[in-house]
Amino acid sequence: MSLAEVEEGAGARLIDGVAVARAVREDLKSEVAELAARGIVPGLTVVLVGEDPASAVYVRSKEKTSVELGMKGATVRLPASTSQAELEALIDRLNADPAVHGILVQSPLPKHMDENTIVRRIDPAKDVDGFHPVNVGKLLIGEKDGFAPCTPAGVQELLVRYGVDTTGKEAVVIGRSNIVGKPMAALLIQAGVGANCTVTICHSRTKDLASHTRRADIVIAAIGKPEVITGDMIRPGAVVIDVGINRVPDASAPKGYRLVGDVHFESARQVAGMITPVPGGVGPMTIAMLLKNTVRAARQAGK
Ligand code: NDP
Repeated sequence: MSLAEVEEGAGARLIDGVAVARAVREDLKSEVAELAARGIVPGLTVVLVGEDPASAVYVRSKEKTSVELGMKGATVRLPASTSQAELEALIDRLNADPAVHGILVQSPLPKHMDENTIVRRIDPAKDVDGFHPVNVGKLLIGEKDGFAPCTPAGVQELLVRYGVDTTGKEAVVIGRSNIVGKPMAALLIQAGVGANCTVTICHSRTKDLASHTRRADIVIAAIGKPEVITGDMIRPGAVVIDVGINRVPDASAPKGYRLVGDVHFESARQVAGMITPVPGGVGPMTIAMLLKNTVRAARQAGK
């Protein structure tokens, strides 16, 4: 179903992540130009270890988008046989390189590597993924010079750009991963725009999930399972943000599968006030926020 077809139907207003991501990129273009006038070219280096095809596509897209914005995008490709020590040595070199403002090591890493040690090796000032414990701490404390993980930051950007009044609202986040659920909750409890929420975090051990989602003004689903949140679990008028990206078999689709979210879109949009589609909702925001973090890293380094 195209976005236009969905728009025509009854129910919730669609939150268009493609359009918002484009607007974020446009803003960044002017910021990059302004930095260039001061002799600063924001540089993002992505490190890809091994041959994971999905990661390769994602990494290409990051490099291409950063170059389009006038930034310096580079990818370092290493074979799956690379040792932990070799990767750490590369990170040390990138940490020391003044032309590199953002470093991202693409996950998943090969099994013989310890991802936690790698994340901690990156200079927090260049950790534009926002996974270093220093940045996780800064997010919780509310220090603005840290970096928030890109997907939850993208969700917050959608809420802000769609004028969702979040102050005093009940937000229910489903999922407690370090990549999405926990940082999402940490963003929403802060004092400030797109935040000031009363937050509940649900997970697989939560009793009676629907009793939580039904009282939420804002539902954020980051579960990783198809269509768990159905319309009967949504309070009328609620804002529904679907982070999930799941492949489900579909013989009628050209690739034999289609993408669905963690929310059952058709039933949820009948009751929600606003809703993100999958694809075209949260997904496009992640790279845009990564570049936004990189531009800020360059600005902060240039001070
Ligand atoms: P994880 O698998 O790390 O976490 C899923 C969370 O959902 C866990 O906390 C789990 O609970 C909880 N959960 C699982 N089943 C249920 C259930 N039935 N009821 C309530 N809670 C449940 O996934 P991620 O956080 O990494 O990603 C979540 C989704 O978001 C995925 O679909 C992923 O593809 C997508 N995603 C999209 C991105 C983008 O748009 N660019 C980026 C990152 C992720 P427990 O902790 O108890 O196991």
